[in-house]
Amino acid sequence: MPRVAIIGGSGFYSIFENPEQKEVKTPFGDVFLDIGRIRNVEVAFIARHGKKHDIPPAKVNYKANLYALKQIGVERVIATNAVGAINPSLEPGTFVVPDDFIDFTKNRDSTFYDGKTEIVVNGRVLKGVVHVSMTPDPYCPEIRRSILQALKEAGVKFRDGGVYVVTEGNRFETPAEIKAFSYLGGDVVGMTGVPEVVLARELAMCYATLCLVTNYAAGVQGSKKLTHDEVAEIYERNLRYLRDIVARTVELIPISRSCSCGKALEGAIASK
Ligand SMILES: [Zn+2]
Repeated sequence: MPRVAIIGGSGFYSIFENPEQKEVKTPFGDVFLDIGRIRNVEVAFIARHGKKHDIPPAKVNYKANLYALKQIGVERVIATNAVGAINPSLEPGTFVVPDDFIDFTKNRDSTFYDGKTEIVVNGRVLKGVVHVSMTPDPYCPEIRRSILQALKEAGVKFRDGGVYVVTEGNRFETPAEIKAFSYLGGDVVGMTGVPEVVLARELAMCYATLCLVTNYAAGVQGSKKLTHDEVAEIYERNLRYLRDIVARTVELIPISRSCSCGKALEGAIASK
């Protein structure tokens, strides 16, 4: 079974020509996955918003998605997110590989460890309170390195690092909110990065994301003035690159893990 998974964001709904489709039952709901091969690597794929983009950010079943991947043996997750630029130097079409995030979501179920549910991680049954650490690397450094290498090879415009601010949605942010996020150190803003990254850590999985800047956030003016048509064209073109970059990342990820993600639960359990 696959050890690597892709969670595709907006505009990224499939990667295989003829995938095996699999339904995985979890305590949090059922998940439909595509299983296929990228070069010689077996990979699972989930379209975060559904194949028809009919699941809004706050309604994505993040817990079921991550737990289903864990149940089939996935250790490493590459995600993609469409984001807006808070930092004016990140013009639409730029790829960003965040190295940190700020969570402004409000009403999401953001933990597996609710004190009641039994969670199985690497053969161990856990039930209680668990506080995972998000330092020093909220995102897996090994997956990030592989994404960055794939970006370099593709010759596209990208930024290594950045702070991803995650909002609840569905509405977009106000100009005052974006100004505040900018003061707080935010570089890009989106609605789906949390709790996915947190839930992956809670299951001791590796997780990193490749963000594609699709527009400037509210009130942000970049050095380049772009029309709506130009933004749409840049987005379409870069979505094609996004697929290739993710596929190349799959190939570049080392088979055995040398990061500390697999040890995320050591010392994190507050009660049993
Ligand atoms: Zn890792």
